[in-house]
Amino acid sequence: MEIITSNKDCEKLCYNGYMYVLKHFGKSKITWRCSKRSSFKCMGKLYTNVQKEDPVLKSDHNHFGDSEKVDVEKALCIMKEQSKSGLFKPLEVYAEGVAKLNDHVKRTLRNQCSKLNPIESTSLDNLTIDNEWCTTGHPEYENLLIFDNGVDSEQRILIFGTVEGMNNLSKSSTWYLNGNFALAPKLFLQL
Ligand SMILES: [Zn+2]
Repeated sequence: MEIITSNKDCEKLCYNGYMYVLKHFGKSKITWRCSKRSSFKCMGKLYTNVQKEDPVLKSDHNHFGDSEKVDVEKALCIMKEQSKSGLFKPLEVYAEGVAKLNDHVKRTLRNQCSKLNPIESTSLDNLTIDNEWCTTGHPEYENLLIFDNGVDSEQRILIFGTVEGMNNLSKSSTWYLNGNFALAPKLFLQL
């Protein structure tokens, strides 16, 4: 059994391939419910003592446990925490988090990530960036696409940045530049 925390208010208990969230903190025991309650309508329930130890399954699940998925969730959780701390660069966090997983789980994670990504364009004529891909993503969805001269332009230029970033640049007397080639789409050269 292991407890992971994605943020202070949301602890997740991992046990036998299932994940649980806190339902009720009682005097002598804590009730946890299956994290798939809304998606699978699962009534799986578990008790622990108030120290969050000694898990006892109280109601069965209506689905199989998946310890690899739990491992992926755990890795994602740790990555989230590390990126929030600001002590690590995103690529370092990702590389280190993935390195800890076994090969099969790594594949699952990669497949899940690539399913979430848009299909990479083969030509700049059909490359449109819209909706949440113009933003910093969850949870702020702040605008990130500052400039796009459009699909009809001869030399396509996209500039990404945030208002806060631009403010910081405008106040700085010296700028240091660095290319991040690993993240740039293949159709683009990066300055
Ligand atoms: Zn369940």
